[in-house]
Amino acid sequence: MVKKIWLLNNGTFNIDKSILISGRGMGKVLRIGVYSVLIETDKGYMLIDTGLNPNGIEAPEGTWGKLAKVIAPRFEDEDIIIKSLYNLKVNPEQITHVINTHMHFDHTGGHQFFKHATFIVQKAEYRFAMNPDSHWSASYMKDHYDFNLNYELVEGDCELFPGIDLLFTPGHSPGHQSILITLEDGRRFIIAGDAINTLENMDRKLPSGQCWDEQTAILSLHKLMTISRLTGSVIVPSHEPDPTFYHTLRETLSKS
Ligand SMILES: [Zn+2]
Repeated sequence: MVKKIWLLNNGTFNIDKSILISGRGMGKVLRIGVYSVLIETDKGYMLIDTGLNPNGIEAPEGTWGKLAKVIAPRFEDEDIIIKSLYNLKVNPEQITHVINTHMHFDHTGGHQFFKHATFIVQKAEYRFAMNPDSHWSASYMKDHYDFNLNYELVEGDCELFPGIDLLFTPGHSPGHQSILITLEDGRRFIIAGDAINTLENMDRKLPSGQCWDEQTAILSLHKLMTISRLTGSVIVPSHEPDPTFYHTLRETLSKS
């Protein structure tokens, strides 16, 4: 059973709006946040995604290469995943599983801190990330995740643990997954990952502007919106630029 979840900040970076929402706001640069989710179950703690790589604070180009100048990542002190866990009195060693929505650099930057944990990734994502097509290699920074980690590969929709269901939502990347969380008080949240970057993607029914396969991404967007409607789940987008959304969400989550 899932007792409680927390949204953790993992830094911010600049992005052209049209990369978040296909065909919208080209030339408009937004500063967006990156988030992980900490899950407390009756069996221990898990994480969804690990955010931007904090090694980039000291060595931006060494960490993100040429992309560092373009996206200008920034961390506040409490954005570093290890520190946010300590602030919640959770020792990183207590994290038993990390569920990875997909393996792009802004979702794998803290994998290095959880070498003891089991990483849950869709098989299609793992295979692509280990050998990405060359035009996708800027998004897949292999030194973030290709070392001695324990991967457990899953395929398609499945129940991972009671209250944690994995939903296969490819399109943004070949093996993207989203996570439906059911709290023990019955409230439900869909951690969409980049299957839904912003609220506007849902309003306009438009996928990310940066898709491995756009048509598949549209199907995944519709899948999540349908599951949300049928189950009464709140969809949590990955990079909503309006901070009010996450502020309100945190207030809601703190009531559990
Ligand atoms: Zn992302």
